[in-house]
Formats: sequence, structure tokens, C-alpha cells
Amino acid sequence: MTTKTIDFSKFSSIKIGQKTQVTILTTCSDYDSKYFLLGSCNNTLIGDNPPPLMVLSKDYSYIKIENNLLKIGGATPSGKISSFCKKHDIANFEFVSHLPGTLGGLVFMNAGLKEFEIFNHLKTVSTCKGIKNKEDIEYGYRFTNIDTPILEASFELSYGFDKEKVELFKKMRLNQPSTPSAGSCFKNPEGDYAGRLIEVVGLKGKRVGGMEFSNVHANFLVNHGDGNFKDAMYLIKEAQKRVYEMFEIKLECEIIILENI
Ligand SMILES: Cc1cc2nc3c(=O)[nH]c(=O)nc-3n(C[C@H](O)[C@H](O)[C@H](O)COP(=O)(O)OP(=O)(O)OC[C@H]3O[C@@H](n4cnc5c(N)ncnc54)[C@H](O)[C@@H]3O)c2cc1C
Repeated sequence: MTTKTIDFSKFSSIKIGQKTQVTILTTCSDYDSKYFLLGSCNNTLIGDNPPPLMVLSKDYSYIKIENNLLKIGGATPSGKISSFCKKHDIANFEFVSHLPGTLGGLVFMNAGLKEFEIFNHLKTVSTCKGIKNKEDIEYGYRFTNIDTPILEASFELSYGFDKEKVELFKKMRLNQPSTPSAGSCFKNPEGDYAGRLIEVVGLKGKRVGGMEFSNVHANFLVNHGDGNFKDAMYLIKEAQKRVYEMFEIKLECEIIILENI
């Protein structure tokens, strides 16, 4: 099997991690559940001792129109999806231009902005366990029950790329920090906002080493440059502890933490 070295301090969006040997999934026979399959590490915090890692081969980075469906390979970056849709005047993917990741990561996380989620127009997902129809998958807010590599997904094809939506999504981003992060640190608990709770317990702007719950938006755990896994975990645990003590709410991480203990 082919491997490559990835420096996660550069590759991950939160700029934490080390140089690590990663196995490349070319066919499903390469896969084994001991591996953790990564996309482009925009929602993941890599620990000092992660499990064996795998990424899809670049062969899975493609977009095609077939049988009146949009078919997108699992390794396709979100930027490529949005430029393809803009170029070919395709609707419903405008929000993806502001969501960093690969198609596999977007589908696995059911990523989205407000009511615009990747599952809205999804039809099928091709995985190492065969093709799954949307109706056969459990999904919800930043959740799916997919437990196998996503190789491709197909979507309804509708025309009419909406530039105004792109502007709307851009505006929605204005209250978020540009400092490196892995996106929202916690899922919003039902009926509330994780950012509000972090602020109320006094952690907005709290900095430990190079890591901080951003002063711009408290639910973004940002790295000022020299942040590390230990400081990130300290802040995550402190927020969970204080929010539980004050509100009896268990804050659930949206970011995926990879550490073999
Ligand atoms: C600045 C910033 C803003 C963000 N804003 C948002 C937002 O508004 N809304 C939102 O939903 N997200 C947001 N995110 C998070 C991120 O954009 C999404 O979670 C995205 O889906 C991550 O994709 P990825 O390829 O980087 O996944 P990774 O971080 O690499 O992986 C995330 C999860 O997906 C799984 N996965 C990845 N590829 C596959 C595959 N091929 N098959 C099966 N499982 C796979 C991994 O195993 C892991 O569990 C933001 C992130 C950043 C950095």
C-alpha cells in the first residue's frame, strides 16, 4: 500500500499535529477499521499519539454529470465543487464555497450553514460497503451513521447558480475569526448556542498558551501560532466542566479529536 508523510501542523486547519505517515486508500481492499480516514482535516484535532491515518487517493477527486445527477468523488475539495457549480450554473451548492473540506468530510459530518446542509439534495452515497440511498442513512445536525469510507455521492441536478446566496453566506461568516481553527468547537445544544454558553462561563477570549476561545466568536477555538494539543484539550475540558456546573448542559464536541490513549 502507498503511504505519504503529512505535516499536520501545516495541513490541518487548526495547525496542530506533527509529521505523520499516512496510508492512501486507492481501493477498498486497502481499508481496515484500524485506520481513521481523514478528508482535509478542517474539522479534526490531531493528538500527539493519533491512530493510524488514511486519506483517499486523488483519483477520488472528480465531479461529473451523469444520468441527470451530479456525481462527486469523496476526495473532491469544497472549492472545486463550488467553482464547478458556478461554471456550469448549477444550484444548491452555493454554501459549500464557505465550508472548507472534502466531499467525504462534508457528507460524513452533514456539514452546512443554518438550514443549508449537504444532505438536502443528496440522493446516494457510494461507500466501501456498497451504495446507500439517502433514506437508508440516519442523519441530522452535524451527524450521520456512516461507518465506512465514502467514495462518491450523487445529488439532484438543478440549474441556476445563485450569486446572491454566495454573498449571503459570505456575510454569515463575518462574525467568525480568520485565525486558524477547526470550525465550531462544540455543537449547539438544543435551543441554545455553544458560543453564548462559553461566554457566560467566562471563557470568551480565554487564552492558554497559543490557544484561545476566540474573542470574535467564543465557539471557535483558535490557534495563535504556537498552540498545541494539550492547551486545546485543557480549554475544551474547562468549557465542558464550567458549562455543566452552571447549566447542567453537556457540551458535545463538533470537532473530532484524534488521540490514542
Ligand atoms: C473556518 C472554518 C469554518 C467552518 N464552518 C463550518 C460551518 O459553518 N458548518 C459546518 O458544518 N462545518 C464547518 N466547518 C467544519 C468543516 O468545514 C466541515 O466539517 C467539513 O465537512 C470537514 O471536511 P474535511 O474533509 O476537512 O473533514 P475532516 O476534518 O478531515 O474529517 C471530519 C470527519 O469526516 C470523516 N471523513 C472525512 N472524509 C471521509 C470519507 N471520505 N469517508 C468517510 N468519512 C470521512 C472523518 O473520518 C472525520 O470523522 C468549518 C471549518 C473551518 C476550519
